[in-house]
Amino acid sequence: MKTLIDLRSDTVTKPTPAMRKAMAKAEVGDDVYGEDPTVNTLQEKVAGLLGKERAIFVPSGTMANQLSVKSHTQPGDEVILENFSHAYNFEGGAGAALSGVQFCCLPGTRGILDVSQVEGAIRPFDAHFPVSRLVCLENTHNRGGGSVYPIKNISEIFKLAKSKDLLVHLDGARLWNASAASGVGPGEYAQWADSVSVCLSKGLGAPVGSLVAGSSDFIARVHRFRKMFGGGMRQAGILAAAGIYALDHHLERLKLDHDRAKHLALGLSKCPGVSIDPGQVETNIVIFDVTDSGKTPLQVAEAMRGKGVLIHAFGKTQIRLVTHLDISDADVDKTLQAFKQVFR
Ligand SMILES: *Cc1c(COP(=O)(O)O)cnc(C)c1O
Repeated sequence: MKTLIDLRSDTVTKPTPAMRKAMAKAEVGDDVYGEDPTVNTLQEKVAGLLGKERAIFVPSGTMANQLSVKSHTQPGDEVILENFSHAYNFEGGAGAALSGVQFCCLPGTRGILDVSQVEGAIRPFDAHFPVSRLVCLENTHNRGGGSVYPIKNISEIFKLAKSKDLLVHLDGARLWNASAASGVGPGEYAQWADSVSVCLSKGLGAPVGSLVAGSSDFIARVHRFRKMFGGGMRQAGILAAAGIYALDHHLERLKLDHDRAKHLALGLSKCPGVSIDPGQVETNIVIFDVTDSGKTPLQVAEAMRGKGVLIHAFGKTQIRLVTHLDISDADVDKTLQAFKQVFR
């Protein structure tokens, strides 16, 4: 069977043989009773990495974000975030449905907000207005092209939030990538947030799982809502073992994904009809525009599929590629060969 090169997302990775071995060997218990030793180990490990009191294992990044929104807000509160953020666009309207919040969306630069924008969006206290309660930031920013949040912006926004009695949640689905690219540790980012969500199932290559980290009081609320949302799992240690393995073995290699993404971007910049600035590719996501090629993203995706490469058509003009654990240097070369034929 011819294997496809799958660049649609970093969620498509399959557990490695060594990861499966770690999963098979995992000690387990009933995590709803707090008795799964492997889940407990993972939670302590991630709390330590993020410098928070506690962390809690949940099934998905979406649930991690939405539990955080739920635990920080009351119905009718307003959540300030960026226009193209995941929590607003790609989570099925959960903020409105599950927490009854409304969103104030600000236009970012490749997903990044400036403190003055956030300041301008905070409502004065007045019975007419919703209560500005929470700011959500996303690092790296997915739709922004894997952009890394400058620590200056994050720290300034956090300090502003504290001065105005707002909370800050950091959607760190790819915080590991941000750290690998910038050298700023996950804990250094996390200190500027009341809560942080991180994914194990993206670049780290685990099959399932995310965590939320924060203060003990906050995690106690998340724990209750996790049960309410249906995210309490039983012998989840089999999944947690994959996460522990990934944190021990797959953090260092994220830089390789970034190098490969850069290589793809440089190659694409030489294809006629492709618009891309390789200088903007900071991590493992490559977004480019195909308007000038006269082809639609769907047509390009179809042509690439014919050559054994899966890519993600993003809206009417753009394509997204994401590098990950299962993409090698040879795959990158083959992909660029295929693009050269398609954009000839
Ligand atoms: C993927 C992603 C999520 C959600 O993760 P799922 O596990 O797919 O629910 C949240 N935020 C960002 C920025 C993501 O890229």
